[in-house]
Amino acid sequence: MLKGIGVSPGVVVGVAYRVESVLGAGEPQSLESAAMVPGEIARFDRAVEETTVELETFVQRIALELGTPAADIFKTHLQMVNDPEMTARVHAAIEKKRLTALSALQSVMNAYAAQFARIDQDYFRERVTDVRDVMTRIGSHLTRKPGPAENGNGATESHAGEEPVILVAHEILPSQAMSLGNLAIAGIVTETGGSTSHAAILARSRGIPAVSGVDGIMNDVVAGDLMVVDGREGHVIVRPDREATSAYRKVQREFFLLKDRLVANRDQPAVSCDGTHVEVLANINNLADAQAADSVGAAGVGLFRTEYLFLTHHDVPGEEEQYEYYRQIVLSSPNKTTTIRTLDLGGDKTVPYLGRRNEPNPFMGWRSVRIFFENPKLLVTQIRAILRAGRHGKVSMLFPMITTVEELRRLNTMVKEAKSNLRREGVPFADDVKTGVMVEVPAAAVCIDALLRETDFISIGSNDLIQYLVAADRDNPKVAHLCEPLSPSIFRIINMVLEACQRTGTPVTVCGEMAGQPRAALVLFGMGLRRFSMSPAFVPQIKALIASVTTAQAERFAHHVLQLSTSDEIRAYLSERLHEVSAELEAIDFA
Ligand code: PEP
Ligand code: MG
Repeated sequence: MLKGIGVSPGVVVGVAYRVESVLGAGEPQSLESAAMVPGEIARFDRAVEETTVELETFVQRIALELGTPAADIFKTHLQMVNDPEMTARVHAAIEKKRLTALSALQSVMNAYAAQFARIDQDYFRERVTDVRDVMTRIGSHLTRKPGPAENGNGATESHAGEEPVILVAHEILPSQAMSLGNLAIAGIVTETGGSTSHAAILARSRGIPAVSGVDGIMNDVVAGDLMVVDGREGHVIVRPDREATSAYRKVQREFFLLKDRLVANRDQPAVSCDGTHVEVLANINNLADAQAADSVGAAGVGLFRTEYLFLTHHDVPGEEEQYEYYRQIVLSSPNKTTTIRTLDLGGDKTVPYLGRRNEPNPFMGWRSVRIFFENPKLLVTQIRAILRAGRHGKVSMLFPMITTVEELRRLNTMVKEAKSNLRREGVPFADDVKTGVMVEVPAAAVCIDALLRETDFISIGSNDLIQYLVAADRDNPKVAHLCEPLSPSIFRIINMVLEACQRTGTPVTVCGEMAGQPRAALVLFGMGLRRFSMSPAFVPQIKALIASVTTAQAERFAHHVLQLSTSDEIRAYLSERLHEVSAELEAIDFA
């Protein structure tokens, strides 16, 4: 059993599908005889054909979800896959160097990557990622269904083809994560990344069990291996024996049944035993998530991360395109209620067109609104698009990573100017779009009173708030244990913000992942939180949780938790309380 961090709950038994970090990987493999050359060439050509079909479908899907220009990035991949020069070079490497198709592909792609890397332009250097992406795709078709000889793993049960697929990777980049929906993925295991890395967030939004920070997993797993992924406990078992396999299959079935049962409450309001109403909202990244939010019965979208539109673009999307995309998101959101967050690039999400940055400390660096102050036009375009989309529903605008009141004032002025320009130009927009501040930098929490005087609403981004509060990178497995939501410091700081909002009657949401975690949500509800926003997959369980507790009970829990001094005590205490309130929800809790 290998230990990592459980980043998306649930249990799954399936077969490994490796996402190779192909560049620089492994020794080249030679063919045993010249007679194998034609077969190997045919195998490569087949993989190219399969990749082409896969990419074509993918381009269509992305075009539907994110709009045509967003699909362009993968159209470029299609061109790369079908580049006759690339094919000729791979064929030559198989024929002349007698390499296997995979090794030939590797050597040709490595040469391309080296060529790109030498070009002294950021745009081309960034294209190395595309080369890696394309190579991984073709390579994965070459290794997809290994025969027993390649698998070398006759002792374990293997049912490649019938089993769900478990993605195993060193790291999943945000742009790669976008393409995950293309495969029927049932589980994800990575060597790097913590519970709030964007790959983890995407896994959760699709309800896929995932474990990160599993050191050396790429050395242990061969494509086609049977694996168990336990996203609650953060365990991975490679080649489980019969007993473990059947025990975990049973848990997997129970997990699915419970989720099905919970979704049945989709049309019920979120209300506690004693009649306190709460709003259970969804965090979304794209159009498909907005639809998912509606189908699980969320009351609205509490956080729309606009970065994903930008991450799949070659350049800055224009105002018209953004407007059209936001309009579609609003129309698809439950109750046409959407909180649109302005661009939060930086940290683990970068785009080549904003310039290459080699910051020693990207999470503490040029991120989010800090970028806008150097590129105000970028923000003005987005603000205009959001104000225009506001006509199609109940839209709010949310600013991430606010650190000082001065920043908020600058942003408020920009919104005011954007409105008066739209008015002067005669472009229709919604004047009543509310603006809010994300509290995710401790400085903002400490000065919450000052911020409250100049904003309409607050959204607590606990993912970042935790990492900045404890000074530990949320995606670094070595320090991830410090990024603990069930901790005295995070509950105290959140309580402080909630009390300030209650005093001033300011609407407040918690939109970090802890809002969807049953134990944490019990405390937040007890502290008086009435707006929770989370990955759509968790909406049903939080509605069920609220329905199983009274307000007074939750207040007691929160009061007690605020007296405790350690995370261990808080965890133990809340596990007992959750068990009393709803033993079945304990099975899908995580954190
Ligand atoms: C957060 O920080 O809690 C949050 C919701 O924002 P993101 O995870 O997108 O940084
Ligand atoms: Mg954040």
